[in-house]
Amino acid sequence: MKFTNVPGLEQLKTKLIQSVDGGKLPHAQLFLGQQGSGKLLLAFALTQYLYCTNKQPKDSCGECSSCRKISAHTHPDVHYSYPVINPGTSTKKPISTDFIEQWRLINKERIFFNIADWVSLTAKDESKQPNIYREETRSIISKLSLKPYEGEAKTLIIWMPEYLKTESNVLLKLIEEPPQKTYFILVAEDSDELLTTITSRTQLIKIPRYTEEDTANYLKEKYNLEHQKATQIGYLSEGDFRQATELVESVEDNFGSLFREWMVACYTNNLIKCYEIADHITKQGRLQSQLFLTNGLSILRESLLYKMVDNYTIKAEKEQQDFIKKFSITLNATCIEKSYEQINEVIYHIKRNANGKLALFHLSLNLRYNFVRK
Ligand SMILES: [Zn+2]
Repeated sequence: MKFTNVPGLEQLKTKLIQSVDGGKLPHAQLFLGQQGSGKLLLAFALTQYLYCTNKQPKDSCGECSSCRKISAHTHPDVHYSYPVINPGTSTKKPISTDFIEQWRLINKERIFFNIADWVSLTAKDESKQPNIYREETRSIISKLSLKPYEGEAKTLIIWMPEYLKTESNVLLKLIEEPPQKTYFILVAEDSDELLTTITSRTQLIKIPRYTEEDTANYLKEKYNLEHQKATQIGYLSEGDFRQATELVESVEDNFGSLFREWMVACYTNNLIKCYEIADHITKQGRLQSQLFLTNGLSILRESLLYKMVDNYTIKAEKEQQDFIKKFSITLNATCIEKSYEQINEVIYHIKRNANGKLALFHLSLNLRYNFVRK
């Protein structure tokens, strides 16, 4: 992973590059950031830069043998520790390298993932608690006591050190008094769950959450998403790229057609249908409900523009365009404005834990009166 491939976080990148260039990289750092922040990617980019044999002014080259091995998580001097699930099939507890193939896979495919994603990939029984066992700390110690194979230094990236418990004392001692040329990068989400012995022995680097703009830009680039949708998801996902990518990938393609059905139900006073739709949407969860409504807002906006601007080209898929043309006949500017406000208000309430089904149904009752009837 090159620094340029890590979205945003420009100031931090500069700071880390400078500390490597100046030979002042702390031997133990704690990258702390919420789920879906760039903390793990940044740890990878930093490690790659550290080992790159052909450093560019502000990044690793991405092409030398070290860079390629680190990208593929196969560099013999770079180790990874993460919580694992004990399958219980043998008396020996598992260690991280037992799951290295899955680790490579998830970092390639998902990029932004959380502990639940990791557990569902690696465990047969997802109800089991992941752990960083004593066996893992022993394995780390033996790995780190060896001489580096290729570079001058050894690095250990510990993802989710929240799962290190007091039985990891030996490891903590090692972090405190590391072997020469050994770097520890701990990548954590929740400082409350960390042993104080960890926080006191590492240099804290806070990874800020992504901004709405960062998120929208990332989605536009990664999924070729149109601006409006990217902005909506940016707003809803609150700087959590995992959430944002989930939303994009799971957004129902039929949100558009469902909105059409809903509007027809409102227009024709079909309250049973309105209720069914409210029920269906709410069952998808809070974020999906908000997304459904913000998607509706963009349909309203396009309808308004189509109505007001001569020769306006509607920004929507073909099927949606035909609906917007017909829909705009049933509305005037005041109606649209009113509907817009009412929908926005419901989005606000759903965000703050209101009963989504009731809020949506109530919204249907209100929207019924906003149509122009001839
Ligand atoms: Zn390189």
